Amino acid sequence: MTRIIVTTSGKGGVGKTTFTANIGMALARMGRTVVLVDADFGLRNLDLLLGLENRIVYTAVEVVTGECRLEQALVKDKREPKLVLLPAAQNRTKEAVTPEQMKQLVGTLTKNYEYIVIDSPAGIETGFKNAIVAAQEAIVVTTPEIAAVRDADRVVGLLEANGVKQIQLIVNRLRPAMVQMNDMMSVQDVQELLGIPLLGVVPEDERVIVSTNRGEPLVLAEDPTLAGKAFDNIARRLEGEKIEFLDLHPVHEGFLSRLRKLLWTKLI
Ligand code: ADP
Ligand code: MG
Repeated sequence: MTRIIVTTSGKGGVGKTTFTANIGMALARMGRTVVLVDADFGLRNLDLLLGLENRIVYTAVEVVTGECRLEQALVKDKREPKLVLLPAAQNRTKEAVTPEQMKQLVGTLTKNYEYIVIDSPAGIETGFKNAIVAAQEAIVVTTPEIAAVRDADRVVGLLEANGVKQIQLIVNRLRPAMVQMNDMMSVQDVQELLGIPLLGVVPEDERVIVSTNRGEPLVLAEDPTLAGKAFDNIARRLEGEKIEFLDLHPVHEGFLSRLRKLLWTKLI
């Protein structure tokens, strides 16, 4: 059985592509066969995050127009043999592929892969429809900001209306110190607003920028940072393992904040 998962959000720039690259790499390292589908036509960057941009010859668009075979467009990861990427065309319009073509394409991929993870563009136009049309599950990524959460809420409604039954939440770029100062929404706040199960929390981490520039997902680091561990844990939860949520609290703290931390840890 293949799991077809779409990574979505309402607002752009919340970390979908970062999430998709890391989760794909983590799952492949756990022994799963994984294909990452870049459905962000017009603004591809999954290839950059994986350091595969120079290996792209064909994209999903040439596959659907019959200019190449599917296998010719798939790009193998340099480090992890179980991971491949189906790139998106950069210079075509978002209408280059129709939802029906996308569905067919993903259907073909189910023969050879255990996970198909589709990275969607921002917004809810054609690109979004392409990304969700074949998905059975959705992972909604949001940052703990009102605007992002409100837009995520709209997306949850759209996913439900389109028959995507299993919808789970990732809260990205959490800054625990800010939450403690009441300057940032807590994970619990976000979850209560959206009313979908929490799959994971990823802290704000400046190593994300380094990892993006190098084209090396964080989960590959020998001594992974908290964000890298968070991605790894999320992959394990997808696999059905019961993994505790990371303790994302600042190290220097007084008695009162430790007390709050105790209460808070129970909540995420
Ligand atoms: P999207 O695909 O939703 O548009 P990206 O994955 O491209 O979002 O991420 C948007 C920006 O946020 C990038 O510059 C990325 O490096 C940064 N980013 C994402 N997640 C984190 C994180 N946990 N900590 C710090 N920066 C992050
Ligand atoms: Mg993206």
